[in-house]
Amino acid sequence: MALYEYRCDQDGEFEVNRPLGTAPESVACPVCGTEARRVFSVAMVRCGSRPAVFAAIERAEKTRYEPQVVTSVPSAGAKRPVRMAQMTPALARLPRP
Ligand SMILES: [Zn+2]
Repeated sequence: MALYEYRCDQDGEFEVNRPLGTAPESVACPVCGTEARRVFSVAMVRCGSRPAVFAAIERAEKTRYEPQVVTSVPSAGAKRPVRMAQMTPALARLPRP
């Protein structure tokens, strides 16, 4: 389970406890009943408290609603392809044809 934050324009922020990954984009405000939009923050997971875990969950959740989109072609010609022998030192010791 995780706590998800929502913000009502009139009543401010409130939290909803739901299973991980099931938070809707908006829920009804418990005070006035109007739609409250989700606020992205570090999820409060019960099974852990490490910042790295929070950051990973936050990043994964955010990509569901705000995916990073490539807007340009990567620059060409700057990098040479890496050969397998360079990545694996053991292959460099093998005899060459
Ligand atoms: Zn409200």
